[in-house]
Amino acid sequence: MTPIQMVDLKKQYLHIKPDIDAAIQSVLDNCAFINGKPVQDFALHLSQYLGVKHVIPCANGTDALQIALMALGLQPGDEVITPSFTYIATTEVIALLRLKPVFVEVDQKTFCIDPGAIEKAITPKTKAIVPVHLYGQAANMEAIMDIAKKHDLFVVEDNAQAIGADYIFANGEKKKTGTIGTIGCTSFFPSKNLGCYGDGGAIFTDDDGLAAQLKMIANHGQRVKYYHDVVGCNSRLDTIQAAILDIKLKKLDEYIAARQKVAAYYNKAFAGHPNITTPSVAPFTTHVFHQYTLVLDGADRDGLHNFLAAANVPSMIYYPVPAHRQKMFASFGGDAYHLPVTDWLTERVISLPVHTEMEDEQLALITTKVLEFFKH
Ligand SMILES: *Cc1c(COP(=O)(O)O)cnc(C)c1O
Repeated sequence: MTPIQMVDLKKQYLHIKPDIDAAIQSVLDNCAFINGKPVQDFALHLSQYLGVKHVIPCANGTDALQIALMALGLQPGDEVITPSFTYIATTEVIALLRLKPVFVEVDQKTFCIDPGAIEKAITPKTKAIVPVHLYGQAANMEAIMDIAKKHDLFVVEDNAQAIGADYIFANGEKKKTGTIGTIGCTSFFPSKNLGCYGDGGAIFTDDDGLAAQLKMIANHGQRVKYYHDVVGCNSRLDTIQAAILDIKLKKLDEYIAARQKVAAYYNKAFAGHPNITTPSVAPFTTHVFHQYTLVLDGADRDGLHNFLAAANVPSMIYYPVPAHRQKMFASFGGDAYHLPVTDWLTERVISLPVHTEMEDEQLALITTKVLEFFKH
């Protein structure tokens, strides 16, 4: 049995090594390290996969969120509603742009932003909502888009954890997550479901005008070389990373299926356990299991984490401190926020290893050890 890791990038690489090595070698042969042909090829292939008109590659997922918010013409002090229960990047870029993050609750079952909480947080200064498709399933986009329409708000989807997931509308229509709101953002960080071998990210939109704006902002605010219309930034996806991603994109559906198989194994092993709640999938979404996250109740969560570590089974707490309790946001209300579901989840979640290369023996050991912990 291979040692268990949260993600096994080495084993995944070895399965696709000839294709990856050839793709990297081809970039080296051409020396077009910046904006080479593989960048446009990958953007086109990803737009076809997602069914979205424009894919604008950029340097990482955090930049994708920042550039998306920069393109919306917001003014300092404008409010952006976002969950507190998320990775810090989602909320950090809001504050960085001198906008005001307004933290709201998530749904206790799906870990995604609660549409009812959004509606309650809206003020005349609210300009945008940033839902996060956390752990790999979609937030309730139909409800969120209805609220956005009613109050004339932008929606920027943080799709860093859910690329490839399907959103299923009430009328049966399906769309990929990240293609429903005004703008969608993703990350190609190596451990993400579609990950490269360094940093990378992308922005999606169906709007031609916004696409031009996003491209311009990511490229020093220029449309024509050396003529800079707006203050932008320098955010590019390396050609080598694009070449790698173009190969891995072809495997994405297979990778998602492998993750779903792991989740099904765990679900079965933990079904009906009095202390363990397995992930629930909302009826309007598929789940691509970027994380497989349990909620423990009436149990010592950190005790389980340590017990597993002693048996060489890694586990992670995503995330140990919610945004509204981070020091960086003290001036935005911080502890004055009352987010009991978020706090409750923060104390009880634990994520188990899930990746594309898991072995049956590994799954057997992980589930045995988790169940053993509760017998003490
Ligand atoms: C990974 C991640 C990001 C940021 O992506 P980077 O490429 O690391 O900048 C943003 N939001 C969420 C929810 C993420 O998981």
